[in-house]
Amino acid sequence: MGKVHTTICPVCKSDALSHYLNVRDHSISKEEFELLKCEKCELLVTQNHPDEASIGRYYESDDYISHTNTTKGLVNQLYHRVRSYMLRQKQKLVERQQAVGRLLDIGTGTGYFLSHMQNAGWNVSGLEPDAGARKVAKEQFGLEVENIKKLWELEPKSYDVVTMWHVLEHVHSLNDDLAQINSLIRDDGWLFIAVPNPTSSDARHYGEFWAAYDVPRHLWHFSPKAMKLLLKNHGFEVMSTKGMPFDAFYVSLLSEKYKGSSFGIVTGGLAGLWTNIKATGGVQQSSSLIYIAQKSN
Ligand SMILES: [Zn+2]
Repeated sequence: MGKVHTTICPVCKSDALSHYLNVRDHSISKEEFELLKCEKCELLVTQNHPDEASIGRYYESDDYISHTNTTKGLVNQLYHRVRSYMLRQKQKLVERQQAVGRLLDIGTGTGYFLSHMQNAGWNVSGLEPDAGARKVAKEQFGLEVENIKKLWELEPKSYDVVTMWHVLEHVHSLNDDLAQINSLIRDDGWLFIAVPNPTSSDARHYGEFWAAYDVPRHLWHFSPKAMKLLLKNHGFEVMSTKGMPFDAFYVSLLSEKYKGSSFGIVTGGLAGLWTNIKATGGVQQSSSLIYIAQKSN
């Protein structure tokens, strides 16, 4: 099985990478991985993560395709309500920069966001590596989502907005992909990137049990400093950063489960709530962040 051994930080090119934390794959393989920290830009790297050809088996779980439409049960109902709320929030964020236009969503999944934006009047395109998810997007919403490989065949400067919701932390070829994404966006166009925030208060609180490390599926864990530098290296300027309020609840519940806590729902929910309260005092504390970046060259 191929593994990727990192000796140079992919963001700032420093070789000052030191041991940060050992983290287990709690959800699927139960294997342990080492996180390295770049002393210069504070990027965390999942050391020796499986390469592109061999990472597939780490996604083989019902959890990763559980985004079905059943509305049974309280948790499910809550989940669906939170999802609709989040979709409207994302739409609002995008439309604060531009009313309507051409939007490319990378990592479309089963198509909820893309369909929502299409209904709001956007001309939408979506790319997704998982064939099963593309099929669901087609059946559920009539969306023609393309294979992610199509990223390299799209027309330059043809999109006003590109969105990547919890995708970049899964991408092996960070720099190649971001260079290509830059070329697809029109001058002064927008890139929205949501990723977990390893500098958040709940990441510090849960340590090795923090659910959003999600190794080895998450290859990189972006500090705000690393993300801003990465985007700058690829011709983008981060204009603002927003927290994702409901992620804290979800991440805390899952983290409590990984810790083996029997009061998971209560304490996790409270920890999540606390993270939210603190996040209102400083967006950098939020367990996930959305970076709103404008193409500058
Ligand atoms: Zn670095």
